[in-house]
Amino acid sequence: MIKAVRGTRDLLPPDTDLWNQVEEKVRDVFARYNFHEIRTPVFEDTSLFARGVGEDTDIVTKEMFTWEDKGKAASEKSQSLTLRPENTAGVVRAYIEHGLDKKGTLQKLYYIGPQFRRERPQKGRYRQFYQIGAEIIGPPSAGSESPARDAEVLEMLATLLDEVGLRGWQLQLNSVGCTEDRARYNEALREALKPVVHQMCADCQRRAETNPLRVLDCKVPEDQPIIEKLPKMSQYLDEPCREHFSAVRSMLDAVGVPYTINERMVRGLDYYTRTTFEFTHGDLGAQSAVLGGGRYDGLSESLDGPKAPGIGFAIGEDRLILALQAEGVSSKEKLDAYIAPLGAGMNQHALKLARELRRAGVTADIGDETFRLKKSFEAAEKAGAKYIVIVGENEAASDEFAVKELATGKQEQVARAELVGYLRH
Ligand code: AMP
Repeated sequence: MIKAVRGTRDLLPPDTDLWNQVEEKVRDVFARYNFHEIRTPVFEDTSLFARGVGEDTDIVTKEMFTWEDKGKAASEKSQSLTLRPENTAGVVRAYIEHGLDKKGTLQKLYYIGPQFRRERPQKGRYRQFYQIGAEIIGPPSAGSESPARDAEVLEMLATLLDEVGLRGWQLQLNSVGCTEDRARYNEALREALKPVVHQMCADCQRRAETNPLRVLDCKVPEDQPIIEKLPKMSQYLDEPCREHFSAVRSMLDAVGVPYTINERMVRGLDYYTRTTFEFTHGDLGAQSAVLGGGRYDGLSESLDGPKAPGIGFAIGEDRLILALQAEGVSSKEKLDAYIAPLGAGMNQHALKLARELRRAGVTADIGDETFRLKKSFEAAEKAGAKYIVIVGENEAASDEFAVKELATGKQEQVARAELVGYLRH
C-alpha cells in the first residue's frame, strides 16, 4: 500500500471543517485591519531563501527541499529551485519585483498556505505544514518603521486568537536590536562562551563559532545554567532600538495586550531586527509556539530591493488547530436536515424539496428511495442531522411533511411553505 510520505498528512473531515472555520475567521479579522491577500508561488529560486532567511540558519543548511531544474535544451543552464520553507522572503521578493514601493503607501498583505521543511517529524512538527501570515511593509515615509506598526500587529494577533476561540495563549516579546547591536552582542557572546563552551552540547560548540546568538535556542537541560549566565541582549541595544522597544511596550500596555519579556527568544531566521515575538500555548508540549514573527528592516535591501522596513508573523495553522482541539473547540458545522425519500418514485420529490431548502440556506443531506425507514433514521443519526424530513407519497401529494427532531423524538407535520423557518429555528 502506498502511504502519505513521512512528515506529511491528510487532513480529513471533520477536522477540515475546523480548519475552514479558522481560515474564514482569520480572513474576516484581516479584512477589518485592512490587510489584503497575496499568493506567491510554492517554489522559488533557491538563492531567495539562502539570502533572505540566512545562509547559516537551520532552515537553509538542513531543512530545504531543493532540486536542480534542468533547462529545456542542453544549452540552457539548470536552475536550483526550493519548496518555500516560509513565506516572508517570497512576499518581499514580490514587493520588489512588482515595484510596490512606488505606491508610496504601506502594503498590508496576508497569505495562507503550505510551507515545507525537512525537519524531524513529531507532534506539531511536519514536513508539509500550513502557515497563516501577514506582513506590513513599505517606505519609511509611509510609517513602516514606526513602533505603532509593531503594536498594531501584536494587538491584531491578540484579537485574532481571541476570536478564533483560543484561550490559553501567552505573548513572549523581545528585541534583537539592529544589525550593529547584534554584531556587538554576538561578539560579547563569543567572548563569554570561550571559557565555558567545552562543557556544552555539540550543537552549542558549533554555534559558538558560527552564530553565537543561536546558543540561546539550545534546549539541552545541562546547558541551561551556563546560558542563564550569558550577557543579555537588552544590554547591547543602542538608544534608537531601546526607544523603539519601549514605545512598543507602552502601546501594548495602553491597549491592554498582556506580554512577558523573554530575552532568550532570538528566533530561527536571520532577517529579524528589533521587535521579535512568539505566541505560545501550554497544551502543545515541546512545540509550544503557535506563531512567531518580528520586524525585518533590512530584508528588502538584502534582496537588492529599496529600503522597505516591515514587520510580520506566521501562525502555524497545524499547531493552532491542535491547541484549539486541546481546549475542546470543534467546528460549528451542523446538518439541519436529512431528507428521507420513502418508496419507489420518491427520489425526485426528495431532490426537489432538497433543492428548495438548500437554496434557502438550509444544510441538507439526502437519502435514497430504496432505504427502509429504519435505515433512513440510522443514516440521519450518523450524519448528525438535527431533523429528518420524510418524503413519502402522501407527503408529496399534500405538500406537508413529517418532520422529526432526532434528539427529542418530537414529530410534527410541517407545510412546505413553513419548512425553511421550521428547520432553521
Ligand atoms: P517560523 O517560520 O519558523 O518562525 O515558524 C512560525 C510558526 O510556524 C511556528 O511558530 C510554528 O507554529 C509553525 N511551524 C514552523 N515549523 C513547523 C513545522 N515543521 N510543522 C508545523 N508547524 C511549524
